[in-house]
Amino acid sequence: MQPKIEFRKVDFAYQTEVSVLKHVSFQVQPGQTVALVGANGSGKSTIAKLLTGLLTPNQGSILVDQTTLTPQNMAELRQRIGLVFQNPDDQIVGATVAENTAFGLENRNVSRPEMQRRVQMALEQVEMWEYRDREPGLLSGGQKQRVALASALAITPEILILDEATSMLDPQAKQELNQIIQRLQQQVGLTIILITHDLEMLALAERVIALDRQQVAFTGTAAELFHQEDLLMRMQLELPFSLQVQRDLAAQQVPLPANDLNEKELI
Ligand code: ADP
Repeated sequence: MQPKIEFRKVDFAYQTEVSVLKHVSFQVQPGQTVALVGANGSGKSTIAKLLTGLLTPNQGSILVDQTTLTPQNMAELRQRIGLVFQNPDDQIVGATVAENTAFGLENRNVSRPEMQRRVQMALEQVEMWEYRDREPGLLSGGQKQRVALASALAITPEILILDEATSMLDPQAKQELNQIIQRLQQQVGLTIILITHDLEMLALAERVIALDRQQVAFTGTAAELFHQEDLLMRMQLELPFSLQVQRDLAAQQVPLPANDLNEKELI
């Protein structure tokens, strides 16, 4: 299968003397969910910006559907990428939830009825349709983030990038968003990139790409990553609490209750 996204030996520096990415290469297959992890400042958001054409590599190339990104084809490509950022308050526009969701469809040559259909579909996907006439500013953080996700879904993206989208949410809101993402994964062909610090979120990813020292330090499953303790430490990532407890108990040879989560289920 041809990759949906490919980074080929990408170098990037904001200032010439400080390299952020050095020879970064990876591929993401169509329909796959990939988590991008790494310490603060390791270049995760930079990768998202490179992919959406907000930045250009100093060296190397980025391909989507085997086409190298260029300033000329970037605008067209950006229309196929949905983005959700960290701060729900930064993504609120419009007087109602429905207007907010339709915002990305303005100037896209989408007819009114088609716009309404897409807004309804997107808000239903994030379970916010009944809030369509509400003022977005008055919603909870988790609800705002679901509306931000609906806005990204309304453009019917082929690639969805969630950049630390759950990091400002409380545990329940996080869980709700994760469940919605899980349902989106059933959508045929939707490629999802989860940029995250949250190891619980890694449970959703089929593959994890870890950045360390300007490079891809690891690609594999979350279960494999959890065994790379040095790398986890360098990335300032901690094992999910439940897994940590389970490991500690195992180390002390305390048997787990029969109905407890096992490592396989968790990751
Ligand atoms: P992450 O998303 O992994 O936290 P970023 O991609 O935001 O990392 O940042 C990578 C590095 O680039 C960091 O050292 C950060 O300070 C630097 N950086 C990010 N944005 C800019 C910018 N606009 N100008 C200069 N340096 C930046």
